[in-house]
Amino acid sequence: MSLQEKRIGILGGTFDPVHYGHISIAESFLDADILDELWILLTPDPPHKTEQAQADYQLRLKMLQEAFKGFDNVKVSDIEKQLPQPSYTIQTLEFLKSRYSGYTFYLCIGGDSLHNFKKWKDWEKILQICDLFVAQRPSTDTQAIDESIREHAHFADHEPIRVSSTMIRQAVAKGDDISELLPSSVKKIIDKEELYRVINHE
Ligand code: ATP
Repeated sequence: MSLQEKRIGILGGTFDPVHYGHISIAESFLDADILDELWILLTPDPPHKTEQAQADYQLRLKMLQEAFKGFDNVKVSDIEKQLPQPSYTIQTLEFLKSRYSGYTFYLCIGGDSLHNFKKWKDWEKILQICDLFVAQRPSTDTQAIDESIREHAHFADHEPIRVSSTMIRQAVAKGDDISELLPSSVKKIIDKEELYRVINHE
């Protein structure tokens, strides 16, 4: 295969902070044998999380880089930082498609997000640019998914882990132990930079 024909999965998020749920979903996408690479896009300012102030972008980026160190097929990307805000997925995909015209992109999402997908800005345009790659339990019934979406969807078997960044931020603010929820290299940054000690609202 030439470089021009790479199949790239795009997994976006605020990763505030990155945790084992993110690492495990990334592994499920890579294990499914569709992708050559998974690009993890750190979002500066997601349109759906306006009520919450994020930890500094460079620190979230550093935590992501630590978490995915050693994953040969994963690239952590700050490309959304260079694009106009807020970071709509359609804008990012249009940019990637123009910059890497020979690549095939797959938008990687969790099964939960699939049910809201028609609420995403320009969802039909998104499906003209790329297919969806959905991580969900092997037992999930895909027949219930709207046909207009299902014909553009591929599935990766995935057992979700019950952890979220919100859970971690709240645990740190309460002084609870988070070492089971994310890699120790990420916890070190949280400790050193004193992140999430107070719950931060804008
Ligand atoms: P928050 O709690 O701040 O809303 P989050 O934990 O959901 O954050 P995001 O950065 O919003 O993390 O997630 C990035 C991507 O990872 C999204 O596609 C999201 O669905 C997925 N994701 C988040 N947590 C998990 C998890 N535990 N298992 C699988 N996928 C997850």
